[in-house]
Amino acid sequence: MRIAILGVGQLARMMALDGIAMGVEFSFLKLPGEDSRCVDCLGSVVTAGPQDSCASLFEALGCPDVITTEKEGVDVDFYEQFSSHCAVYPSSRAVWISQNRLREKTFLNDQGVPTAEFAPATSLEEIAPAAERLGYPVIVKTQENGYDGKGQWWLRSEADIASMQGAEASGPWLLEKVVPFECEVSVVAARSSAGQVEVYPLAENVHRDGVLLTSVVPVESISQAQSDEVKRHITRLLQELDYVGVLSMECFVTESGIVANELAPRVHNSGHWTQNAVPAGQFEQHVRAVLGFPLAPPEMSGAAGMLNLLGVQATAEQALRANHHWHWYGKEVRSGRKVGHINVTAPNLLALKSALAKLQAEIYA
Ligand code: ATP
Ligand code: MG
Ligand code: MG
Repeated sequence: MRIAILGVGQLARMMALDGIAMGVEFSFLKLPGEDSRCVDCLGSVVTAGPQDSCASLFEALGCPDVITTEKEGVDVDFYEQFSSHCAVYPSSRAVWISQNRLREKTFLNDQGVPTAEFAPATSLEEIAPAAERLGYPVIVKTQENGYDGKGQWWLRSEADIASMQGAEASGPWLLEKVVPFECEVSVVAARSSAGQVEVYPLAENVHRDGVLLTSVVPVESISQAQSDEVKRHITRLLQELDYVGVLSMECFVTESGIVANELAPRVHNSGHWTQNAVPAGQFEQHVRAVLGFPLAPPEMSGAAGMLNLLGVQATAEQALRANHHWHWYGKEVRSGRKVGHINVTAPNLLALKSALAKLQAEIYA
């Protein structure tokens, strides 16, 4: 079996690392100029030039059984073309919906999944009236291509619109009412081409400067009913999209219930803890799902967590203590860049949080 992945980053790397252990072969498609050092040792890397036809790329990729993606920012028409050669999972429709915040939130609401109130704006002039309608404070987000909190402006009042000067070309935007959340959680789930669905336990996520820093499982400050509600939501989305592969959803937990923030049609940074805490982590589960293999039930005992290495190295002494698992992406270390993570497991949440806090204090000293 062979899987070709669109993308050459750490998510592609970790998918391949798990798939190779199962005897699956991999190839990777990159855009000109993309650095493929994360995956160079894991399979052939093909560069998609502007003149290359889908048929010739399919052949260069070794005629894979499945094409999948590690990112939502792909040209969906290009992605869809592969479906005349092999299976394309997740579908281009699922990717198309999640790559635009307006389509995504509209879809979530249509499926009965609550989100922040939102309004689109196509020019800077439309921002003030839209914000007035929603009521300040609001967050303005680029509809496409934003990640790690980039392409966002927090507006407390009309005067703050001045902070968007120079951002004219980044539109269209989506305005969202600021959600007063108690904590942020995410859920990662998989559906196989045979229709089997498995949902991992929810993780509680903490961000630093808009970038995920830690994930912790189980989530302390959420009721069983709320956790079940999130799992029901993602199961409905998987079924409605006839989805194949891993799908992730970030949510806010508020006093008045669960509010979905965004979808990722792929494995997710907040699901990295699964690598060392359940029988099959999200990367293996994705490989199983797209190849139509049985999914592994996400049974877990005790607690698990993850610390992202953002522009920092860790020593083996820090990263390889008992119940600590070091994942390094082979990238050049640059300020703030995701270069690796450490997963930690513990018998209970208290022990987990204490181990994670110790690790974080040492690494970010
Ligand atoms: P990611 O890297 O997760 O894809 P992103 O750039 O797509 O991030 P969001 O996840 O939408 O951006 O927002 C980044 C963070 O900003 C959220 O994790 C949350 O902390 C905060 N945030 C976003 N939208 C809202 C909102 N409507 N109300 C309150 N906080 C918000
Ligand atoms: Mg996002
Ligand atoms: Mg997010």
